[in-house]
Amino acid sequence: MFLIAVKFPTGISSSQKPILTWHGKLLHKAWISARMIITIQTLSEERKAWDMILSGEPGIKSMEESDFIMVTGIGLISGGLDSILAARVLQDQGIRVIGTSFVTPFFGAEKAERAAAMLKMELRVMDITQAHLEMLQSPKYGYGKEMNPCIDCHALMFHEAGKVMESEGADFLFSGEVLGERPMSQNRQSLMNVARDSGYKDYIIRPLSALFLPETLPEREGKVDRKKLLNIEGRSRRRQMELASYYGITEYPQPASGCLLTEPGYARRLKELMQHTPILESRDVQLLGAGRHFRLDTGDKVIVGRDQNDNEKLLSMKDKTDVVLDVRDYPSPIAIIPHGASKESVAKAAAICVRYSDAPRDKEVAVIYNRGEEKLTLSVKALPNEELDKIRI
Ligand code: SF4
Repeated sequence: MFLIAVKFPTGISSSQKPILTWHGKLLHKAWISARMIITIQTLSEERKAWDMILSGEPGIKSMEESDFIMVTGIGLISGGLDSILAARVLQDQGIRVIGTSFVTPFFGAEKAERAAAMLKMELRVMDITQAHLEMLQSPKYGYGKEMNPCIDCHALMFHEAGKVMESEGADFLFSGEVLGERPMSQNRQSLMNVARDSGYKDYIIRPLSALFLPETLPEREGKVDRKKLLNIEGRSRRRQMELASYYGITEYPQPASGCLLTEPGYARRLKELMQHTPILESRDVQLLGAGRHFRLDTGDKVIVGRDQNDNEKLLSMKDKTDVVLDVRDYPSPIAIIPHGASKESVAKAAAICVRYSDAPRDKEVAVIYNRGEEKLTLSVKALPNEELDKIRI
C-alpha cells in the first residue's frame, strides 16, 4: 500500500491553504512514510488530486482512511504574542492546533478568544475556579512577586489541557512559554516541574524554546518535526517581534499578564482575606475587585463602592446573607458586609458609609439597612478619618 502526502507549497500562509479532506475529515501530511507527494494550491487542484487518488493512478494501489495521520496539538492559549506564535509555528507544520483557555475570578478568556479567531483555531474555554482556588491556598512552589503562583498555575492548566488531549484523541500539548523569559516560572527547572506535575511530562512541547529542552514523545514519534521548532531564550522580545512580522501578525496584546494575582493592590487584599478565611470562596475573591475594603475589630469585612460602577458590581455580587447599607437622604455609595454581621459591625459600617456620602460629617443621618427581607433605619454619624485609616485594607 502506498501512503500519500499532500504538500502545500511554501510561501503561502496556512489560512490560504486548501484543506484536503478524506470522507469529510482533515487530512494530515504523512510526510515520513509517504511515497508520493501531491502538491496542491487551489481547491480545483484538490479535487483533481482526489480524482487521481480515487481512480487509482498508477502507483496508487489502495488507500485506507487509517493511512492518514492527523496530528493534533492542544495548546495553552493566553492570547499573548508567545502563545500565538507557538500555535502558528505548529500550524506551519500542518498540525491541527486546538487552544484551551481558562476562566477564574482572576483572569478570563477574552484575549484567547481574539487570538483563536485570528489563528482560525478552535478554542475550548474552561472554568477552573474551584481547582485554582484550592491550589492558590497552598501552592507547592509558592508565589511570584505578588500572589501569583505561576508554576502551580501552569501545571494545573496543562493538567486540564491534558484531559482535553485525551478526550479529543489529540497527540500532544504545547504552550508559548519561553525559557528564561520569566525568572521564576520559566527557568529550566520550573518548566520541567510544570511538565512533571501536570501528569503529561513527555507530551508537553514549548515550540519557541524546544531546541533548548529535552526531546518529547511526539517529536520522537515524528509527529512534530523538531527541526522546525525554535531556540528562543531570554527576556528580549526581539525574536518574537521578528517572527510576528514574518507571519504578518500585527495585532496582539502587549506583554502584561492580565491576571489580577499579579496586581499589588489586589494581591494585598487577597493575602488579607486568606488570613481571615480558612477556605477561599469564589464570590469572596470576586468582591476583592470592587470598592474600598475595611476590616473591623470584630473581624467583619466592609466594602464601600467608590463610584456608580463599583456600586453596581457590588450589588450584582451580593447574596441574601449580606448586609447592604445606603444613606437615605444624601447621595452615597453603598456599603456591603459580606455574610452578615453583629450590631456593632453594622453600626461601624454605616458610619463608614456616611463618611463617603455627601451627608454632613458632624450630625447623625439616616442609613437604610437591608439584609434579605429585613429592612431597618439606623441613625449614625460619619466615622472620623483617623479611625478609617486604621482599618483600611
Ligand atoms: S500570571 Fe496568573 S494566570 Fe498567569 S500563570 Fe501566573 S497565576 Fe497563572
